[in-house]
Amino acid sequence: MSIYKPTVCPEVTPEQKAALHAKYLAERDRRLKKDHNDQYVPASGKWKDIYEVDPYTSVAPRDAITGETDCVILGAGYCGMMVAHQLKKAGIDQFYNVDHGGNFGGTWYWNRYPGIQCDNDSLVYMPLLEETGYMPSKKFADGYEIHDHCQVIADQFGLRENALFHTLIESLKWNAETNRWHVGTNRGDDIKARFVVLAMGPLNKPKLPGIPGLDQFKGKVFHTARWDYDYTGGEWRNPELTKLADKKVAIIGTGATAVQVVPYLAKYAAQTYVVQRTPSTIDVRNNRPIDADWYASQEPGWQEARIRNFHHAAMERLAPGEPDLVEDIWTEISKNVNAELEAEGWPEETAEQFFARRETMDYRVMERLRARCDIVKDPATAEALKPYYRYLCKRPASNDDFYPCFNQDNVTLIDVAETQGLERLTENGFVHNGVEYEIDCLILASGYEVTNDLDRRWGIKTIEGEGGLSIYDYWREGFQTYQGMTAHRFPNMFFTGFTQAGANASNSKTFIDQGFHIGYIASEALKRGAVRIEPDAKAQEDYIKLLRSIAVDTSEFANECTPSYFNNEGDQKKKRGIFGEPWGHGYYAFTDMLAAWREAGELEGLNLSFEPVAEPAE
Ligand code: NDP
Repeated sequence: MSIYKPTVCPEVTPEQKAALHAKYLAERDRRLKKDHNDQYVPASGKWKDIYEVDPYTSVAPRDAITGETDCVILGAGYCGMMVAHQLKKAGIDQFYNVDHGGNFGGTWYWNRYPGIQCDNDSLVYMPLLEETGYMPSKKFADGYEIHDHCQVIADQFGLRENALFHTLIESLKWNAETNRWHVGTNRGDDIKARFVVLAMGPLNKPKLPGIPGLDQFKGKVFHTARWDYDYTGGEWRNPELTKLADKKVAIIGTGATAVQVVPYLAKYAAQTYVVQRTPSTIDVRNNRPIDADWYASQEPGWQEARIRNFHHAAMERLAPGEPDLVEDIWTEISKNVNAELEAEGWPEETAEQFFARRETMDYRVMERLRARCDIVKDPATAEALKPYYRYLCKRPASNDDFYPCFNQDNVTLIDVAETQGLERLTENGFVHNGVEYEIDCLILASGYEVTNDLDRRWGIKTIEGEGGLSIYDYWREGFQTYQGMTAHRFPNMFFTGFTQAGANASNSKTFIDQGFHIGYIASEALKRGAVRIEPDAKAQEDYIKLLRSIAVDTSEFANECTPSYFNNEGDQKKKRGIFGEPWGHGYYAFTDMLAAWREAGELEGLNLSFEPVAEPAE
């Protein structure tokens, strides 16, 4: 019997494929905006509270900190926590996790909107499950469960005493005389740190939709990353939005966030307008409890194995006979392709033949997903909800309650594809196709800054390395790093996430491995008595050359996609994308390379400088 349980997808003939391809391109062209990422309004100036104000936890007063520490980690979300945990394991325990939020969790601190769940398999996504002995309650965990697990990690691994919450880093300046970073914050701190790690995660700063008249609207406005339960009623763990019973609400966006929110608005609000520019792919959820007996029976190392398997299925390919352990929207194409190959007796194929096979499966899976929209009874609405693009042009979602909402009288789809957004906002509501719709509340599910301008994306005014060089100038034309984690002229500074490193399908795994590597370098520098560690200019240049020589060219795929933050909103002149420049030979080839590099023990490519040894006293 086969280990693969393929999903049932419609067959697609070559003629149908060609017609769909043409429609995909037409939909892309219809959506393409000339101003790409610039269409968005930053959460600053008039809108700064959308980013800066914490509606969940009051800010406790504290004195400014001016002392020394070994390391400042910018962020206390998954990335900052994984880095902190690895630093501790490497013997560095004098550090601060500095975070804008009022507790650990990052995205899982800020995002408390009704219905929030992770769209990724919790057994893969939630880090350190074996180490914490924690069993997630279900396949797709609720946001508050993930938040609570972050507190378990913080407490179990002793991170809490090192946390500086409700603190925004405003400047990072290297002082070559003292070999320290000066860390300036909005709380008046001037911390001197040997090392700094930027661990702020890829999507942390809300952005606003560029709708004309946005600041005219006099009703309630908030972003989903700062849900206002005082206004809507209910609370995070029990989102009964009863105060919306007499309210007309519009939600901008139909991305992963809005897909989870809309069923709650549909349930509680008098009227919900769902403003959609591009539809998402929304599969069945099939959420289910984790079986405690099954969980207890797992052998040590099971999580690492599951993460690797998920990465193969979601971003590379499942080896012949390798099962699909995760079995959801992220792994479907790989699983179906392997089922097909198995049925054909694992034929020998060239890479081109394999990609053609995957492409056909992509069309078939998208046809299956589009057919789901026919749950909606009104044919025009159902058609408008159908996504016409390749799988993974936009981030996929799964939800059982979103489509049925459109069969309710109090839910209206406002399809703004043709006009590339709402016509405008007024004092009392919004205008679409010349008609004004009155609303009480405007909810922005408009996503996060992913712009090329890192200063706007990160929101840190100053990051200056040696000689006052700004990282924003240094990286204006693209990243320049060694191993994706260090940069010449930015001594003792470490970078994480999507730079020029490997990217695992599960971000938390990437953060664990990057934290480990950073912990190794920082602790080796300390052990060897170095005060400064920085990549050699030539080593960095060679690294970038090698990285680019093995890069997988995905530009054709990206250019054919409908605009989204995955492809820089269709900007083909982009200097960098949200995913950076990933290691072309794959994630595990990258981590193997780093392991061999550490094993050699030479810190090859890094220059170390040592403090002059003081003369012994007479
Ligand atoms: P997205 O950036 O994915 O979506 C923003 C939405 O706003 C899009 O539908 C976009 O339309 C729409 N929009 C923006 N401007 C306008 C405008 N002027 N008029 C109309 N619509 C507009 O943000 P999300 O918050 O949904 O998701 C961001 C990411 O956060 C996800 O991709 C995911 O990585 C993460 N996330 C993860 C979850 C999880 O379960 N793990 C849950 C939720 C979010 P268009 O598509 O046309 O640009």
